[in-house]
Amino acid sequence: MYRLKKSGYEAYLVGGCVRDLLLGLEPKDFDVATNASPEQVRKAFRNCRLIGRRFRLAHVHFGREIIEVATFRSSEKGSDIDQKVHEDGRLLRDNVFGSIEEDAWRRDFTVNALYYNIQDFSIADYTGGMEDLSVGVLSLIGDPATRYKEDPVRMLRAVRFAIKLGFVLDPECEKPIFELAHLLSGIPAARLYDEALKLFLAGKGLQTFEMLRHYGLYSVLFPQSEQCLASEENNFPRVFVTRALENSDNRIAEGKSVTPYFLLSAFLWESVQELAREKIKEGDNESFAFQNAASQVLSVQVKSISIPKRVTQSMREVWLLQSRFNKRVGSRPYRLLTHPRFRAAYDFLVLRTETGGAEKELAEWWTTFQSVNEIEQKKMTRPPRKPKKKKKVAGLTKAKESND
Ligand code: ATP
Ligand code: MG
Repeated sequence: MYRLKKSGYEAYLVGGCVRDLLLGLEPKDFDVATNASPEQVRKAFRNCRLIGRRFRLAHVHFGREIIEVATFRSSEKGSDIDQKVHEDGRLLRDNVFGSIEEDAWRRDFTVNALYYNIQDFSIADYTGGMEDLSVGVLSLIGDPATRYKEDPVRMLRAVRFAIKLGFVLDPECEKPIFELAHLLSGIPAARLYDEALKLFLAGKGLQTFEMLRHYGLYSVLFPQSEQCLASEENNFPRVFVTRALENSDNRIAEGKSVTPYFLLSAFLWESVQELAREKIKEGDNESFAFQNAASQVLSVQVKSISIPKRVTQSMREVWLLQSRFNKRVGSRPYRLLTHPRFRAAYDFLVLRTETGGAEKELAEWWTTFQSVNEIEQKKMTRPPRKPKKKKKVAGLTKAKESND
């Protein structure tokens, strides 16, 4: 910012970083807004790259950090290109340069439209963001329904920021969501994947899930999961998803890693099982039924959220490994142990036992199997000794065995 100032331009910190700093939170990253054009920014820095074809942004590199520098833009209200949206969801009209005040009004929430001025260390506030920040209210700039229609992802952002900041969503911003939630289905699936990760992997996944369901947004993101949740069978499916979210929130709180595929596989597990059960009824064998069910559920899911191939692959593995936990004799358990997805699949199994979806004893066996030495492992995987056959009852024993 000082470099830009020295070159004769205005430069402000803007957006999430100002909001977070004012609230005493640690900003994720820093965004800068300036009246210099992208070309002028590039000339002021050696370590700068321009990105985006139509929506040009300057990325200034400092070691491993990237500072995004955007030129003030105006919203050109009333023009006929108003409603046009790019593939990635940015508004076409966003590309017209403007003044700082115009730049403020095109942003989403008032608390996201605060500018920190290095000239005099003041905050420039054109939309009432400081007032909202002090009372803990999240309000959209302008008419809420219009702003949601312009970019439906703002409904997801409303949920995300309300939860992240612990703010109340302004009632006027809340009302239209129920009716407009369905508009999310028109958003490119790739953009929704990114949003979904931000929503669920920020440490408050469970709360986010509840709020998304409340507004009818979850059903647009995960239609099959919503269908299962809505047709609750003795309270079981709902418990599984919420337990998975709770588990992932706890991991984040403890500084442990979380992977997108674990949660995503939890969201869709009930749907996969249901479909597999149907296929088994129709005569498929178990393994075949689960493989087909997994493919089918994933192909429906990627229509709303485009989950990358490597992630769907891992989801599939977590699901398909579940039945392999039942095989506890001979060399199979050892092979399962070396599978790259073993750990995740095991955690998944534990969750299933906690919510009544699998026998507790099974998870306990695997917990023990991982922790004991080789000799003990051998004992655990030894085939059960066949009872000594007495000649007279041999036929009987055989019959009983095949019954098992
Ligand atoms: P965080 O980075 O903590 O998730 P943020 O507020 O920085 O939050 P970004 O997605 O990084 O969010 O966007 C930076 C800024 O760009 C926002 O603060 C907001 O002013 C503006 N912005 C982002 N997305 C939109 C949108 N869909 N509509 C209008 N303005 C937006
Ligand atoms: Mg940001």
